Amino acid sequence: MNLGGKSYELSTSMRNNQSVILKKPQPATINIMVQIRMHGWKKNGCSDWRCIDGFEMTDTLIRNIRLFIRGKLREANILIKSGQIEKISKVVSKIPYTGSLDRLVEGRGDLVLPSGIDVHVHFRGMGERMKEDWYTGSCAAAAGGITTVVDHPNTDPPVLGRRGFNRKLVDASSMSIIDFGLNGCARGENIGRLSELWRIGVTSFGEIFMADGRRLAVKGDDLGKALSEINGLGAIACLHAEDDETNQKLKRKYEKNRDPHIHSIIRPPESEEIAIKQALLMGKKTKLHFCHISTKNAVNLIKKEKNIREGLTCEVTPHHLLLSTSEYQRLGTYGKMNPPLRDPEHKSALWNALNEKNIDIIASDHAPHTIEEKETNIHDAPPGVPGVETLIPLMLTAAKQGKISIGRLIETTRLNPAKRFKLEPHGKGNLEAGSDADLIIIDTQNPKTIRGEELYSKATWTPFEGMKGIFPRITMLRGKIIWDDGPAVKKGYGNFLPGAGAI
Ligand SMILES: [Zn+2]
Repeated sequence: MNLGGKSYELSTSMRNNQSVILKKPQPATINIMVQIRMHGWKKNGCSDWRCIDGFEMTDTLIRNIRLFIRGKLREANILIKSGQIEKISKVVSKIPYTGSLDRLVEGRGDLVLPSGIDVHVHFRGMGERMKEDWYTGSCAAAAGGITTVVDHPNTDPPVLGRRGFNRKLVDASSMSIIDFGLNGCARGENIGRLSELWRIGVTSFGEIFMADGRRLAVKGDDLGKALSEINGLGAIACLHAEDDETNQKLKRKYEKNRDPHIHSIIRPPESEEIAIKQALLMGKKTKLHFCHISTKNAVNLIKKEKNIREGLTCEVTPHHLLLSTSEYQRLGTYGKMNPPLRDPEHKSALWNALNEKNIDIIASDHAPHTIEEKETNIHDAPPGVPGVETLIPLMLTAAKQGKISIGRLIETTRLNPAKRFKLEPHGKGNLEAGSDADLIIIDTQNPKTIRGEELYSKATWTPFEGMKGIFPRITMLRGKIIWDDGPAVKKGYGNFLPGAGAI
């Protein structure tokens, strides 16, 4: 074959016959552990965050694809150089290719989208490795087309200060195949010293649990104190908005009822509304981000507030968009998450808000638990469902059904998360010259039935069992194929993306 005046011998990918790859060994000198020891992402004499990860970048041409450009799907070819998009052109001969090409990916007319950024995951690891670790979590993400995540700090140990932060950073950096940011806690014991976490690079603070039993919830005056301290830093507070008092009262009332649906009655829609009102009042000046909004009144409250103030965003999960209390019969305790499943009427309000731009971001709240942990009564089962792997596949199915446009999907899974959480300086923008080549190649004609046992999360179950998902056939991060029907890079390929306070 001849490309740009040079001849190449083509060989077919061993794993499947879909991608044609020009083979050249990819040396990967992993020096991330040394860098972390030194906190060397700043100290190795390189001003570019991306050039220090120790992995050799290569030039890649992806040809014959469909790309969403200026509101339309258009035929295109993409040249990637040193991990970034160099040029996009409709005509392959217009690609100004001069150097040596290491890889050619045959697009076969497939859809190419920027890969997703999921700003709400719980990848566990450390003391909770039986639920998930950074390798399985990041593989699940890559398989589902997510190449950047923001992990939340309620881990074992939690991210309360420098020690907890460094421990997680080492764990994630050595295991993750995708890029990541780390959030910090803001609760009781570390309020008053949040600046330490901010300076060492957390993405934002939270999720701040306004209600979650005694262990995690931020209590009494602490919420106001935390929000004002976060405001002083210019950081974002991510809130899990539920009212503890409302929930506890109902929990006592219904503790003998073990029907799974009781979980939604114990944590009613009013609980979310009360908490949102309280946070809006206490954090008048703070940049607030409401996690996993689940009710129509919550959407209306936030919409109203957005009209009178800036710096307010919210997210929705696929499980609140696609599932409802009518699923308890099928899911039992596997349908337990917080906020809980809502009555079906809330779903259409959430879809409308998403499409009308009142909800800014789709995030998974990936919170895996083992089957053993879930196989108990509704009160004792831990809340949370896995979701990072199915977020984009489910939303692509929704796009095919006309529930969301491709443009809105890109905004809510890539552009808005990058903008809101300051990931753009790390190259996490749209697919255009100068941005990281983070992308997914999707055969939209090939939907798959979602099966928990086929997913890569350690959970091996999913609340979306049996539903259709359109999975990417190839996932690329910084110009490298990280997923091609299985992991295609080594543990530790993922880069840590320091938050704005550290840059
Ligand atoms: Zn939450």
